Amino acid sequence: MGKLICQSCKEEYSLSDAVWRCDCGGLLDIDLRPTFPIEKIEERPSGLWRYREAIPVLDDRNIVSFNEGFTPMVSLDFNGKKVLIKLDYLFPTGSFKDRGASVLVSKIKELRIKKVVEDSSGNAGAAIAAYCAKAGIKCDIFVPDYTPPGKLAQIESYGAKLKKIPGTRKDTANAAFKAAESCYYASHYWNPFFIQGTKTFAFEVCEQLGWDSPDSVILPVGSGSLMLGVYIGWSELLNAGIINKIPRLIGVQAENCAPLAISFNENSDEIPSIEKKETIAEGISISTPVRGKQIIDAVKRSKGAFITVSESEIKEAVRWICKKGFYIEPTSAAVVAGINKYLKESSPDEVIVSIFTGHGLKTAEKIAKILNE
Ligand SMILES: *Cc1c(COP(=O)(O)O)cnc(C)c1O
Ligand SMILES: [Zn+2]
Repeated sequence: MGKLICQSCKEEYSLSDAVWRCDCGGLLDIDLRPTFPIEKIEERPSGLWRYREAIPVLDDRNIVSFNEGFTPMVSLDFNGKKVLIKLDYLFPTGSFKDRGASVLVSKIKELRIKKVVEDSSGNAGAAIAAYCAKAGIKCDIFVPDYTPPGKLAQIESYGAKLKKIPGTRKDTANAAFKAAESCYYASHYWNPFFIQGTKTFAFEVCEQLGWDSPDSVILPVGSGSLMLGVYIGWSELLNAGIINKIPRLIGVQAENCAPLAISFNENSDEIPSIEKKETIAEGISISTPVRGKQIIDAVKRSKGAFITVSESEIKEAVRWICKKGFYIEPTSAAVVAGINKYLKESSPDEVIVSIFTGHGLKTAEKIAKILNE
């Protein structure tokens, strides 16, 4: 039922091996050729596990789930143009990261691992902590000390051990990476099983469109776990003959931290080391994305592009989208600003899908401040 393959040396591992990266240090991907038995899928409970054949957890008894997923997809009017939005801020922990956490923690349970580490700007940590709590697995979550208090409280409430690291997001990642020398790394960007969860976004959109693909999908990109998952998901649907084209994948980054947008737009083979400025979109504030080249390759293959949005555009988007009844965090509103830019160039009959990734309740103080500015 598939295998793990190293991007660097092509070494292969079994899906039952407790590895999160190759012995050579390389990134692992999962090669899977899933089937999509449509009639069976449509009879199953509505949740991301309905795509059971496509999720590389071997034994059903290991599934760790809150019956999450199959989020609503609603039509939203952007100055006369229609965009379909998946409401992924409605997941049990308040962000789409539950997609990855449900699949990865199920795999961790299957591997009989008792303790993990993860680093996060907040939401991935909350998701891993919640699913570990359900599975009875211990976890240490490393976060930058500037993480909003709502996110910190959430992680601790699940019983995870919180490790607040001074300095940048990268300092936090380095601390977790070091801890992962002696502990399994439940990383949303290193660990390929997390990305096997985020790919269910593509399956749900496909099914909700009557097993068809949209023309374009607009996504926020930080470490790229969502973008890569969505690309893999569409590729698997294409290989299985369910659809006949992969949608254009459009990545949105904050202007203040846009290494992938810069690299893409300069058509460079390298991810530039940028001097990152602070951004209110802390969830996409990743200056050195570990899977950077892979993300750019995916966007290129889909004939997609990158868009950057400024701090004032993000704040304006927060104010505008909340007035429409969607209480989403600033990171999530960055995509609203990106949609506005994209629509200036889009064709009138284009079918466009996007996502609201994170709940506003996590960052209430930040939103209050933006409203008062
Ligand atoms: C993590 C996160 C993102 C970015 O996802 P990546 O997989 O890191 O690219 C976007 N929005 C929210 C709310 C997030 O928590
Ligand atoms: Zn290798």
